Amino acid sequence: MKIFNTLTRRKEEFVPLEPGKVKMYVCGPTVYNYIHIGNARPMVVFDTVRRYFEYKGYEVNYVSNFTDVDDKIIAKALEEGVDSGVISARYIEECKKDMEGMNVKPATVHPQATLEIGGMLEMIQTLIDKGHAYAAPDGTVYFRTSSFPDYGKLSHKNLEELQSGFREIKVTGEEGKEEPSDFVLWKPKKEGEPYWESVWCQGRPGWHIECSVMAKKYLGDSIDIHAGGEDLIFPHHENEIAQSEAASGKPFARYWMHNAFLNIDKNGHVQKMSKSLGNFFTVREISEKYDLQVLRFFMLSAHYRSPLNFSADLMEASKNGLERILTAADRLREAKEAAARREAEASVSGDGRDSLEQAHAEEIKALVAKYEAAMEDDFNTADGISVIFELVKLSNTTVSKDSSVSYIAFVEKTLKTLCDVMGIFTERRTEVLEAEIEDLIRQRQEARKAKNFAVADEIRGKLLDMGIVLEDTREGVKWKKA
Ligand code: AMP
Ligand code: ZN
Repeated sequence: MKIFNTLTRRKEEFVPLEPGKVKMYVCGPTVYNYIHIGNARPMVVFDTVRRYFEYKGYEVNYVSNFTDVDDKIIAKALEEGVDSGVISARYIEECKKDMEGMNVKPATVHPQATLEIGGMLEMIQTLIDKGHAYAAPDGTVYFRTSSFPDYGKLSHKNLEELQSGFREIKVTGEEGKEEPSDFVLWKPKKEGEPYWESVWCQGRPGWHIECSVMAKKYLGDSIDIHAGGEDLIFPHHENEIAQSEAASGKPFARYWMHNAFLNIDKNGHVQKMSKSLGNFFTVREISEKYDLQVLRFFMLSAHYRSPLNFSADLMEASKNGLERILTAADRLREAKEAAARREAEASVSGDGRDSLEQAHAEEIKALVAKYEAAMEDDFNTADGISVIFELVKLSNTTVSKDSSVSYIAFVEKTLKTLCDVMGIFTERRTEVLEAEIEDLIRQRQEARKAKNFAVADEIRGKLLDMGIVLEDTREGVKWKKA
């Protein structure tokens, strides 16, 4: 299996640290709002990487954090007049709903920065003890980049050039820094901000130290794969390497994987989708128009290292592509039932494949090999999806109600397995997510409390359209499927 490693800028053969196991860390979102579909790209891409490893028989320990202490979370909390914990808890829940909708598996562990402060204080102290960090007079603790000769190895930047680049930008409040490229490990609190006690000052951690500490705690000093969007290469991942390797003296991550951006065309300008540019769609918005399987399929239709432009046309094409797969799967189910009835009547049992079916089964095995070759070439999901379409075509042309049950079942199982690695269901999802129902019920209760009965009725109507009937009982609102 070959993986493009940002560290060496080459595709390299994957060799796990421990045979049969993969330790993987994926930087997660900062939770101050609904996630947008740009944030969803790494989630879908690296979930697919995980699924492929699992398909190959690896045991994957997949850790992905929530950054729940940050300026933007604090700003939102001030705006709403609530504690910042209220904001982060709310958007962690919402993010998990979106992940479920996109069929992104929950991580083995989803650590939260605010619950790992003890580990951060410890690592910062180790770095100070080893001469890799220092506390400035105001209590800010900085990493001493000049103490780590490998600084710049991931982003392929030269420390000297970085220093002169940074010197151009004078930042107020950073007078305590020895060198402009030094970065914050711990910073003093400002009025009204959440803070923790430390020997340096009452304050909070810098962003980079969070991931170094959470990766170490849940996966160990050395891990196989560290991943995230390409905007994280510098400074976030560069700084993570400096912190982790300086503290442990061991190599941190063996393979660094980065997805390219999801872009959007705005009046002829292609831009990265981002909160700050205001050119984003949330996953929630997309889910109102499409089954999120379509979004997932769209994301995987490009290689993860290629930029991907979001457009209504491409979403429609993905919807149609997915429909072709689902129709083929429907046909296979029907053909299998008809064939089973026929075989029962004729008392046929065992592998009733004829020689033509044997030959087609060989073609299918060759397609599976082609699919694996695509995925093992740095997870080329675009080519993997093309193979799925070849299988659909073969299924449509070779399966009929006269085929043997054994052959139909083989085609069906193969299609399901290949789609499953992509996180694509071959059964139609008429199932409405429970979380979605509960959410609408909660919104209806709020509307009723605010005596906004028109909105409450509208929500009841929407639920009815989804096949959900509400019952107002003394114990609260109950729901059932109509
Ligand atoms: P953030 O919440 O901004 O820290 O981002 C969470 C993850 O989403 C990181 O891995 C980012 O690199 C990634 N990300 C943010 N915007 C985009 C985008 N437009 N395309 C692809 N990945 C993105
Ligand atoms: Zn991170």
